[in-house]
Amino acid sequence: MSFDIEHIRSQFPVLHQEVYGKPLVYLDNAATTQKPQVVLDAIANYYTKDNSNIHRGAHALADRATQYFEDTRKAVQQFIGAREAEEIIFTKGTTESVNLVASTFGRKFIGKDDEVIISTMEHHSNIVPWQMLCEEKGAHLKVIPITDSGEIIYEEFEKLLSPRTKLVSLVHASNSLGTINPVKQIIQAAHSVGAKVLLDGAQSTSHLEIDVQELDCDFLAFSAHKLYGPTGLGILYGKREVLEEMPPFQGGGEMIKEVTFEKTTYNEIPFKFEAGTPNIADVIGFKAALDFIQQLGKPTIKKYEDELLHYAKTSLGSIKGFIPVGTAPEKVSVLSFNIDQMHPFDVGMMLDSKGVAVRTGHHCTQPLMKRLGLEGTVRASFAVYNTKSEVDILAEGVEKIARIKNK
Ligand code: PLP
Repeated sequence: MSFDIEHIRSQFPVLHQEVYGKPLVYLDNAATTQKPQVVLDAIANYYTKDNSNIHRGAHALADRATQYFEDTRKAVQQFIGAREAEEIIFTKGTTESVNLVASTFGRKFIGKDDEVIISTMEHHSNIVPWQMLCEEKGAHLKVIPITDSGEIIYEEFEKLLSPRTKLVSLVHASNSLGTINPVKQIIQAAHSVGAKVLLDGAQSTSHLEIDVQELDCDFLAFSAHKLYGPTGLGILYGKREVLEEMPPFQGGGEMIKEVTFEKTTYNEIPFKFEAGTPNIADVIGFKAALDFIQQLGKPTIKKYEDELLHYAKTSLGSIKGFIPVGTAPEKVSVLSFNIDQMHPFDVGMMLDSKGVAVRTGHHCTQPLMKRLGLEGTVRASFAVYNTKSEVDILAEGVEKIARIKNK
């Protein structure tokens, strides 16, 4: 498919509005992406025509809903190159996917004085579940340091590895800096000491081609809402042999084979980890989002977003008082920055008044901000529907704001 930006933009109704009398420039895509009409239609269609509970129905609607639901599982399998659809578990989001692994794999396989390795640039959702687990088990959390430009110091990671390392849980691409981590190398090294690896793919899956078999990660966690899909839906990929060894997450309907008051036997994967009625409508809607991405193709998306990022770096880079944060050479389309002498929150408010939506603050990475000696940053993050003229509006706004303080 050829890349027609106007056609792409026309598929996103929310983009075509004004805020404070100015055209909306939505640059908060690392927080959540907007949804194309096909996703909205798929959800509305489900509720209009197919609404039913799944997997246990003996009627036409239930069969249809089940089929559409399971079609998404297969689409996710293909999207990340998993070996089997059963290795795909639906959750509420990346956060719940990480918590699922901490509560099940963690409870069973991580014990006293074992070690979990994370990095300095983790999102809180890939820090706190491990802290909670380590506290409960008497295990230790080790943190890979980073350079000032926001890259993992690989040699320091190697030094942290030991036979006590049970899990390395690492962000694939940083939400605050955009850094793409060298995950393949890290996975190989972790496996050499017998540790499993979880990748937080919340920011990588929308930009990078992902093949979990090629990467050889044991788990991959991500959120549909950062992939042009609905909120309240996440994915946990796990290798079959690892998932099968793990105890269930929550107890309830669907995750059981047989229940008596004396003993319950559990269902097969993935159902063992999907207790209760799942988020059927959003799972079905997510397939439309994956089709949208696949039609454009990840390499095309990445190339276009790289161009936008490069253009933004160049445009904003020449502004007096502009301080980029996170300057790794390998990045997804995230531009974090500060304006000399200004609080990021004030910059964000001023940009908002110009119709430009960015994120400000610590971006749920407080330890990273502490490491960089910052209270926070302003973050502009680009998606496939953004344009160079939107970057121009951002740059113009930043230039005016910077001039106030940096005459
Ligand atoms: N990990 C990263 C890198 C993120 O950017 C986010 C969300 O911003 C999360 C985890 C948490 O995702 P969710 O809030 O969808 O569970």
